Amino acid sequence: MANFDCDLFVIGAGSGGVRASRMAAQRGARVVVAEAGALGGTCVNVGCIPKKLYSYAAHYGEMAEQSHGFGWRGDKPVFDWSVLKQRRAVEIKRLNGVYEGLLGGAGVQLLRGWAKVVDAHTVAVECEGGEQRLTARHILLATGGQPTPAQGPGAEWALSSDDMFDLEPFPKRLLVVGAGYIACEFASIFQGLGAEVTLVHRGPQLLRGFDKEVANFLIAEMRKKGVTVHLETTLASVEKQGDVQRVGLSNGQLIEADAVLHATGRRARTDGLGLAELGITLNADGSLPVNAQLQTQVPSIHALGDLIGRKALTPVALAEAMYLVDHLFGAAQREPIDYDLVPTAVFTHPNIGTVGLSEEAARDKHGRVRVYRAEFKALQHTLSESTERTLMKLLVDDASDRVVGMHMVGADAGEVIQGFAVALQGGLTKAVFDRTLGIHPTGAEEFVTMREALRVTPA
Ligand code: FAD
Ligand code: NDP
Repeated sequence: MANFDCDLFVIGAGSGGVRASRMAAQRGARVVVAEAGALGGTCVNVGCIPKKLYSYAAHYGEMAEQSHGFGWRGDKPVFDWSVLKQRRAVEIKRLNGVYEGLLGGAGVQLLRGWAKVVDAHTVAVECEGGEQRLTARHILLATGGQPTPAQGPGAEWALSSDDMFDLEPFPKRLLVVGAGYIACEFASIFQGLGAEVTLVHRGPQLLRGFDKEVANFLIAEMRKKGVTVHLETTLASVEKQGDVQRVGLSNGQLIEADAVLHATGRRARTDGLGLAELGITLNADGSLPVNAQLQTQVPSIHALGDLIGRKALTPVALAEAMYLVDHLFGAAQREPIDYDLVPTAVFTHPNIGTVGLSEEAARDKHGRVRVYRAEFKALQHTLSESTERTLMKLLVDDASDRVVGMHMVGADAGEVIQGFAVALQGGLTKAVFDRTLGIHPTGAEEFVTMREALRVTPA
């Protein structure tokens, strides 16, 4: 057998790369990981974690207002953007250190610098002291994704989500283009922090692929909180005058914005990796094709996470890492990832939590579907005076009685759906839900007390 410098060379120390490195090292493999940026990748530095911290910040403003209904007196506290930015930066730096400790503790060698694949078993890293070349039995590409560059009018002044965390000054008027996870979350967050937010989307519905009723419910809730939403609208013109952008919309309206965020998708980060030279071709969307074993067209090179364009979510990258390590260095006992049952949350205000099929997809897949639905004002808001409402949907395949989709728009929807995702993964039926007792008084208990189907589709 050839004598390699290491058993596994990982490019990218983000969610997937760090998990794969640590797990492989814990199984006795000699592991080297190269990282060109900050440890932890997108999720830790410009994704899930700082985004959720900012989402909490936005909720505090709303809660301070709502506390008056519970007897708290006094003016709404004043929001200081610089404090939030600074405290976030400190926490992220701490997390970067935690990741470094985890890698070191597991015996993983960390190289700081841009890495490129030279051949099927060799990686070159541009380190500070010069290029380092190492050979590896296996190479893992975990380089993640990056924002798709903005196109069209005003593209030269467009911001991406990466720019939003340290924006200076705080944008009093924010225009958001797009209606995916990032557009909806950032619209909610900045509105909650005090910006006047306008969301412009080319399509007829937010969050394409989500349950239509859920997406429409979200628009209504976002509008109630003050976000202006323009559907089937695009940017026709953008002029910059000083710090202000004057944006002409395709519907004829003219709006002024201090910042324009283009949240129009992300693409796989393959540039400079040397893939073309190895004869590796990409999918039409720029992602890297892999087989069921996460193997690229070169057998010794594997890939995972956002790079392979399946589901761009941290738990998916982690699951792929654990699957791969088990197959390369373990007993190969892990089952393939069930990409159909990935629970997910959109941290809008209110949150969306969802697992399984939308009503539309459930009908396509199963034919007759029973739709259970509850819409109500949460107990908290009977005194808070907020007009926010909660929506819950449960979709059941009529033939098997299996629950095939669950959706919630409301406070802590992600927390609620995480628990119920186990039930869907276990293939539980509506009868089991009916036998389950609720916890009272909670919002989540509605999911086990829905008795009458609102409709059976097709009728
Ligand atoms: P990444 O975490 O992106 O890591 C890739 C790493 O590779 C980076 O550190 C990069 O610097 C490094 N790298 C790239 N090329 C090279 C090279 N040639 N040499 C050396 N290093 C290189 N997911 C959720 O599940 N929940 C959320 O709430 C959530 N919120 C998000 C919010 C935002 C704004 C964004 C942008 C994403 C969010 N995501 C969320 C998605 C999540 O962040 C990604 O799915 C996850 O980080 C993907 O992990 P990864 O390992 O594939 O790549
Ligand atoms: P998405 O793919 O979710 O959404 C992209 C949006 O941009 C869609 O509304 C799309 O519209 C629109 N769009 C695309 N191209 C254009 C264009 N040229 N002009 C105008 N609009 C356009 O991408 P995001 O960037 O929001 O997020 C990327 C991924 O990151 C997500 O899919 C998700 O996997 C992950 N993520 C997860 C989060 C979470 O778990 N909470 C949070 C943030 C990100 P259309 O529908 O018409 O194509």
